[in-house]
Amino acid sequence: MIELPQSIQDCVESFSKLPGVGGKTALRQVMAMSKWQVQDLLDFSNAINELQTLNKCSECGVLSDSDICKICSNEFRKDSSVICVVENISDLMAIEKSNNFSGLFHILGGVLNPLAGIGPSHLRIDKLIERVKKLDTKSIILAINPSVEGDATCAYIKQLLGEHINVERIGFGIPIGGSLELLDPMTISKALENRKILE
Ligand SMILES: [Zn+2]
Repeated sequence: MIELPQSIQDCVESFSKLPGVGGKTALRQVMAMSKWQVQDLLDFSNAINELQTLNKCSECGVLSDSDICKICSNEFRKDSSVICVVENISDLMAIEKSNNFSGLFHILGGVLNPLAGIGPSHLRIDKLIERVKKLDTKSIILAINPSVEGDATCAYIKQLLGEHINVERIGFGIPIGGSLELLDPMTISKALENRKILE
């Protein structure tokens, strides 16, 4: 069997690190790219390089070019009395796309999972509590995907925030084990409208 040039092998190895991309797919992508014009290759590699400079918003945790993201710094949408808590950026984007929420967001960075060694200190829970106090938040919407870990995370946050704040969880239409990022905007809108107060 012939050995592929090192540059191809290196690229295939890098592509294989992407979620859902195996060796075969990676090779197919790299072979297609090997036919690209020089400028296209440069643009692609520059765009990847720029990822190094990405910041996370120091408030909500979304990826951002600046210290405070566009949502947190937008005076017109800032309904700071409501914070929608999500697991990750894909979920935030899914809710944004539903156009049914005008409050602030908070990205946890996952859910509690003791078996995988993920405890409260690995998530942005402390920062959430800090923001709730600072912004005098009146209501929290937990847009956490339904799963054993998601349920435990919601219960934990509810317990931390105590009785002084309204904590609700979206639910309607979200299948067990489902993921917000895979749902259509209509389902997400419905889920936001049909949320339940956590007891
Ligand atoms: Zn932000």
